[in-house]
Amino acid sequence: MLDVDIPTSLIETLNEAQAVTILTGAGVSAESGIPTFRDAMTGLWAKYEPEQLASPKAFEKEPELVTRWYDERRRLALEAEPNPGHLALARLERIFEKLGREFTLVTQNVDRLHQRAGSRRVIEVHGAVTVWHCSKCLEGNEERGGPFEKYPPVCGKCGGVRRPAVVWFGEPLPPGALDEALNAAARSDLFLSVGTSAMVYPAAGLIELIRRNHACSLEINTQETSSTHLMDWSIQGPSGEVLPKLVDLAFA
Ligand code: NAD
Ligand code: ZN
Repeated sequence: MLDVDIPTSLIETLNEAQAVTILTGAGVSAESGIPTFRDAMTGLWAKYEPEQLASPKAFEKEPELVTRWYDERRRLALEAEPNPGHLALARLERIFEKLGREFTLVTQNVDRLHQRAGSRRVIEVHGAVTVWHCSKCLEGNEERGGPFEKYPPVCGKCGGVRRPAVVWFGEPLPPGALDEALNAAARSDLFLSVGTSAMVYPAAGLIELIRRNHACSLEINTQETSSTHLMDWSIQGPSGEVLPKLVDLAFA
């Protein structure tokens, strides 16, 4: 049993919220066996920093290395299963839908586990690692199978190098997704930041906006982050345990 206290004021606020925006990060998928960036740099990859593998410059210079790394991420995502945290968020979406209230899930994750858990509307601000497209002609599709035949994989249409449809360091976020996330957050009376260090944009921007609007805020994380002190409530614990308990208590 989870040994964390969930404050009554938080339970009541979630129960009464008319519009909620939830931002998730790599921590939400940690219990599904998908490492956070910091934890992923082991074994063969220990000598690299994420920035050395996740940038357009790295892809241009070392396409084989970068596509091998991302193909490993892709297969890890496909082999993983959604955990109780993902499932609790899908359940919360259905509860809000039934009540005619607004629910927006924004994720920085690229693993598609929210969708596989049953979340219907997910705003992906960093793309998806299971989708690959040609860097030249943009032809692309969801890749479901085992390893690629060769690295880097090439486009059958134009011979260009294929890449994961994720947002790399230094690349712009998908503009529609970002606007949608910011608009939803602006309308929300409750904001949850779950399993994210909340340092990269748009996480930091969303938190700023929520504070300006005096909406309520909750952080769920196994550790303290640079945003913890900005939140109305902060629960330290694994999201796969905290989220199901929170949803149960608010909508028992
Ligand atoms: P991050 O690695 O910066 O932070 C992860 C956070 O999760 C940390 O604050 C950590 O304390 C917390 N955490 C770890 N285990 C947890 C658990 N069980 N429950 C709750 N919290 C837990 O991740 P980020 O903020 O998402 O940013 C890194 C970027 O890396 C993202 O933008 C994303 O695109 C990419 N990424 C994605 C995945 C994925 O799709 N699963 C995995 C690794 C990295
Ligand atoms: Zn092509």
